[in-house]
Amino acid sequence: MDRQQEHVLRSIQEKDVRFVRLWFTDVIGTLKSVAIAPAELEEAFEEGIGFDGSSIEGLARVVEADMLAHPDASTFQILPGRSEDGVVARLFCDITTRDGEPARSDPRYVLRRALERASDMGFGFYTHPEIEFYLFHPSNDPDIDFRPIDRAGYFDHSARSVAQDFRRDAVAALESMNIPVEFSHHESGPGQNEIDLRYTDALSMADNIMTFRTVIQEVAISQGVVASFMPKPLIEHPGSGMHTHMSLFEGDRNVFYDPSGTYLLSATARKFMAGLLEHSRSIAAITNQHVNSYKRLWAGDEAPSFVSWGHNNRSALVRVPALRQGKPQSARIEYRAIDSAANPYLAFAVLLNAGIDGIERNLELPDEALDDVMALTRNERRALGIRSLPGNLEQALSLMHDSELVADTLGEEAFEFFLRNKEQEWQGYRNQVTPFERERFLPIN
Ligand code: GLU
Ligand code: MG
Ligand code: MG
Repeated sequence: MDRQQEHVLRSIQEKDVRFVRLWFTDVIGTLKSVAIAPAELEEAFEEGIGFDGSSIEGLARVVEADMLAHPDASTFQILPGRSEDGVVARLFCDITTRDGEPARSDPRYVLRRALERASDMGFGFYTHPEIEFYLFHPSNDPDIDFRPIDRAGYFDHSARSVAQDFRRDAVAALESMNIPVEFSHHESGPGQNEIDLRYTDALSMADNIMTFRTVIQEVAISQGVVASFMPKPLIEHPGSGMHTHMSLFEGDRNVFYDPSGTYLLSATARKFMAGLLEHSRSIAAITNQHVNSYKRLWAGDEAPSFVSWGHNNRSALVRVPALRQGKPQSARIEYRAIDSAANPYLAFAVLLNAGIDGIERNLELPDEALDDVMALTRNERRALGIRSLPGNLEQALSLMHDSELVADTLGEEAFEFFLRNKEQEWQGYRNQVTPFERERFLPIN
């Protein structure tokens, strides 16, 4: 046992932890959890906890079903707000086969592999997401639009409101788990909120995002509302994005910063951006994984539909946020397509590898988009070489299917599983006959 593991075992005693939850994530991004008694943790550190991998989406085929979950001691945290029934702690796990081989479709492993490759080139990858979500009144009827909890808008401050109390409790809960929050505010849609997590290395951030989703749901339950990360829940209002700010560091030095570069960005940052633009269409199935995701991307409302970059241009897919001179640490770029329902491990892995590919192949950044690219005509966009993001999940899957970059990043098993699962989602969706169609075609009196 190493020192970090010993430290966890000591904390469990000192804090009188009664339950230990072991967390991991399936290929689609669903959080999985198994609770063990604190006394079992030492053995879990040494040998892992066995479970049936074939029952978890995409993790293993039935013939190789036996898997082990190995808790990662560095992720130990006490879960907020449960002390009256006994303190509960959680740790994220890495999954292996019985022979100790990493499970190739464990999303955490997919991200670890991408990070290792970047690290061999000398780079650490840091991210900072702006997570948007809606708060609704509880409802059991999916045929009726969910009712947002308020009618407020962007940055609205209302003296005492559910949203305000909600954000205060959520931020306190997150910070108690060592997940620092940079900003939180009401977003444009009624009942829509945003919480931005302070940047950290991509693996910790992916863990933080999974934790965030659970904490937000818990706070919602405690306040009698429901939280939704659905990309586009309401026809008339903006969807929920998860704009992700990214930078590469060499040790303590932000390699995206260059005081003499345009917008203070280095040549490396420009190549990274060029890689993102190059692969944005084929990674869309990962960054925007649901049929509903494409309704957000094509509704306007500051979600990008086209492949372009810009400086402070909110119609652009990749945006270079304004940076003050002398703040090298915060030089970064913002990827705006990704939504709040993405699997963060897989999404960060494909974003990183897309950017790294731009660096390795010395890809040249196209000209900056100076106009609102949504307002241009089709011909104007064509003349500028601005392509569209996929219009729906099917197009996204077909682009992903042909992408060597996505296949290499996910590895054969996760890649095949993801495509199969999502083709089923598309098929299920395509079979629907919607109220929209009924209204148009059936005589209604
Ligand atoms: N809600 C918008 C989206 O779907 C983003 C709004 C913003 O710029 O924060 O991406
Ligand atoms: Mg926002
Ligand atoms: Mg943003």
